[in-house]
Amino acid sequence: MKNKKECEIVQDLLVNYSDGILNPESKKIVEKHLSECEECREELKLIQEDIKKNYKEQIELDYLKKIRIKTKIKSILIALAIIGLISIIIFLNNFIKINSTISKANESLKSNNFYKEKTEILGDNHTAVSKEYYKDGKYKYVWEVYSDDGIETSIIEYASVNSDQRIYIYETEKKAIIEKGNISELKNNVKSMKYVPFVIERNNLFSKIGTTFVYSIDTDNYAIGKKCYILHNRSEKDKWEIWLDIETGLPIKEINRDGGKTFFVGTNVVKSVNDVICEYKYEFDKVTDEDVKIPDLSNYTVENKTLNMEDMVQE
Ligand SMILES: [Zn+2]
Repeated sequence: MKNKKECEIVQDLLVNYSDGILNPESKKIVEKHLSECEECREELKLIQEDIKKNYKEQIELDYLKKIRIKTKIKSILIALAIIGLISIIIFLNNFIKINSTISKANESLKSNNFYKEKTEILGDNHTAVSKEYYKDGKYKYVWEVYSDDGIETSIIEYASVNSDQRIYIYETEKKAIIEKGNISELKNNVKSMKYVPFVIERNNLFSKIGTTFVYSIDTDNYAIGKKCYILHNRSEKDKWEIWLDIETGLPIKEINRDGGKTFFVGTNVVKSVNDVICEYKYEFDKVTDEDVKIPDLSNYTVENKTLNMEDMVQE
């Protein structure tokens, strides 16, 4: 028997019925009515088709969403890959620069006739100049400090490779100190006699890679026709820099910003803070035998000194 009122009630329940969330009592009533009513069965069919369609659309939407997320991830990965690639190229480029500079420095330092001059502007009207002469295993080192009043300190040092002594001459006092010790204590080896900063300590692959990570490299013209790499420590960019001659690989300038302090006389009160600037000059095949010859010490007061490990510890 068709009952309009019953149809309305059943049709209200059909969505819940399709979702399977009717209580058993209501479910029984709905099923009983459906078995007798063609119109409500049609209605149920429509609802079920609708649900199916919605479900399909939802799947399609989810699929599109997934694709969109995938595309986004893909572009992020591509961007990261490009950034990575650029970083690798920059790293390799810097590594090649550092590697070739160090190789060139080593090549330059192979010379048996080597002169190095270092001028250190200390800031408080003081300038220190050191001149190193090296010829065929013989070595002379001249250390002078100048102020506005003229020369303040002058020490000349003589040594030779694998010798167990060094001679220090204090010209103004006409005094000479002959220092004896074992070769490693005296540092009478070629490496320390031809020492230059920075490049000499970076001779193995590991430290070259480390240097590439730590230092940024700029290129600049230091003097006319002289191209340099300027290296900065990335973590303290403005604190310290070194200029390396591209041609010889050797350092030609070092700047230590705020590296020098002057104090009011007799106190530890800071008078001024200034940059310490070192400049290096080199010459090859210019040192003569006369330059490295130990002078006649008969006019000097000679003092003999023996280095031993206890002295080293006290230092
Ligand atoms: Zn019905």
